[in-house]
Amino acid sequence: MSNITDQIARRRTFAIIAHPDAGKTTLTEKLLLFGGAINLAGAVKAKGDARRAHSDWMKVERERGISVATSVMTFDYAGCTFNLLDTPGHQDFSEDTYRTLTAVDSAVMVLDGARGIQDQTRKLFEVCRLRDVPIVTFINKMDRESRDPFDLLDEIEQSLALDVTPASWPIGMGRRFKGCYDLFSDRLVLMDKAASKNVMSEGEVCSGLDDPKLDELLGKDDAKTLREEVEMAKGLCPDFDPAAYREGSMTPVFFGSAINNFGVRELLSGLAKLAPPPGPRPSATRPVKPEESKVSGFVFKIQANMDPKHRDRMAFMRICSGHFKKGMKLKHIRSGKQINMHNPILFLAQDRGTAEDAYAGDIIGLPNHGNLHIGDALSEGEELAFTGIPSFAPELINRVAPDDPMKAKHLGRALQQLAEEGAASVFKPRLGANWYVGVVGALQFDVLADRIAAEYELPVHFEPSSLFTARWVFCDDEATLKRFADKERAVVADDHEGDLVLLARNAWHLDDLTRDWPDLTFAATKDQTT
Ligand code: GDP
Repeated sequence: MSNITDQIARRRTFAIIAHPDAGKTTLTEKLLLFGGAINLAGAVKAKGDARRAHSDWMKVERERGISVATSVMTFDYAGCTFNLLDTPGHQDFSEDTYRTLTAVDSAVMVLDGARGIQDQTRKLFEVCRLRDVPIVTFINKMDRESRDPFDLLDEIEQSLALDVTPASWPIGMGRRFKGCYDLFSDRLVLMDKAASKNVMSEGEVCSGLDDPKLDELLGKDDAKTLREEVEMAKGLCPDFDPAAYREGSMTPVFFGSAINNFGVRELLSGLAKLAPPPGPRPSATRPVKPEESKVSGFVFKIQANMDPKHRDRMAFMRICSGHFKKGMKLKHIRSGKQINMHNPILFLAQDRGTAEDAYAGDIIGLPNHGNLHIGDALSEGEELAFTGIPSFAPELINRVAPDDPMKAKHLGRALQQLAEEGAASVFKPRLGANWYVGVVGALQFDVLADRIAAEYELPVHFEPSSLFTARWVFCDDEATLKRFADKERAVVADDHEGDLVLLARNAWHLDDLTRDWPDLTFAATKDQTT
């Protein structure tokens, strides 16, 4: 058993960000295939369908054919242990997606070669940028008619303000797509359409682009074009700079075709070589280093009813330091209670196995009855508070009411629990008996209505409200805060943790109050741990 530093050095914890349909699921399958975690391509979807068939609580998921649940997949490749955190890829995404990105050390951005940067790509990228998450880009579907590679590189650079550098270069596209030249290891990798999908050639090692082998393998014309294009690309793009990549200001770009397994090996090797292992995590008191001997971690996601037979919740904890062992006791900082880690779950792609050991960067699942909340820290005793796990001001706010008005109290309890899970923001105005629910994407309202009906036997309906936006209100001076809350009591509410929230009627209203109350901060995000 190697020591803790070796274990940390081999960890790569990452997520894939993509606009729906760019090929995230396909790429995930192929990564798992290369990682030996699955034997058959298609297993991710098949397993997802099987799981869905079991979970009648999530009718929306089935009806719409989308995966609302996220998961964690662990596999080994090239001496590294990869933890791939799945982010839901449907049109409307929830805070889950954002928070998942707080638990990774790097990301892979998948683009459809014919479409380039799309709405969702941009949104997810912005979340990565908040923490300067390093990004490797994979331009997919090169077997189809795609946009010109120069155009694509230019778009990434211009629209995301990111330096780009090609890691591989495509040879042709669409029906004329022959393969890629791997610029990092000087290898020509050709796509063999006839080969079995599960066997991939390692490529031909070349001595460089001048190698006459290229003329033989590609033909004179394609070899010439390749040389010219790469020369031009090198002239236009800066050289790969590992430091710039790790700071999140440069992205190496791979080209490929996930469905044909093409470019996937290069991407994985790239991640093994370039992507950062777990680093220090900020906390309110000090940065926590992964190699510290004491175990610590934070909860970034809660999922209910993963196993429909139980009503338990699963808390997903990212380990930040130490050598975690099954059976150990960790202190739950918020409650001060010791929690016995007798059945932690490690998320393997094929099955859910029991975690025996885990290190920084690993994700473990902690089944619980609702005592673990998003942002909670666990440690071997130290009072840690990890920072940077945000709540976002919801973009859509609706009033929620039970179909049976007598059940209002019941509704309060359901909403409180859903808010603790991070499924939505919940606001209770100081005046009146209404409840408001805020979400990031409209689909979440359907999911919530479904869950409240199924889990609490409480049919509810959502009604559009005239509220424009919610802002957390902060002030160092309690008296000022109280004065504000009293004066504006018609438009303030409490969130599920009792923090003060302004429910603004419109942008003008928000501006006005911002001007009238210069000592207050009206924040669009709330750090869970402050
Ligand atoms: P997701 O929504 O991002 O998870 O995308 P999927 O992986 O489900 O892929 C969307 C569609 O694109 C599916 O029909 C895939 O078969 C197809 N697709 C994925 N990768 C490729 C590729 O490399 N080439 C081509 N031609 N189609 C692809």
